Amino acid sequence: MAAPNPMSCRWCGIDQRPHAQQWKKPVGWHKWEQPTQQQIKDRMHARRTERTRS
Ligand SMILES: [Zn+2]
Repeated sequence: MAAPNPMSCRWCGIDQRPHAQQWKKPVGWHKWEQPTQQQIKDRMHARRTERTRS
């Protein structure tokens, strides 16, 4: 499975555009929210390692 877009929702990893309202534990119903700087870094790193591995 591909790593999520670094800028996708901080709670569920769905991109901002198709997001709308989503239900996800532990937040429940929420709208797209900007990920933290740390999340962005982690996701970019995950993408990089994934690319290197394949
Ligand atoms: Zn979300």
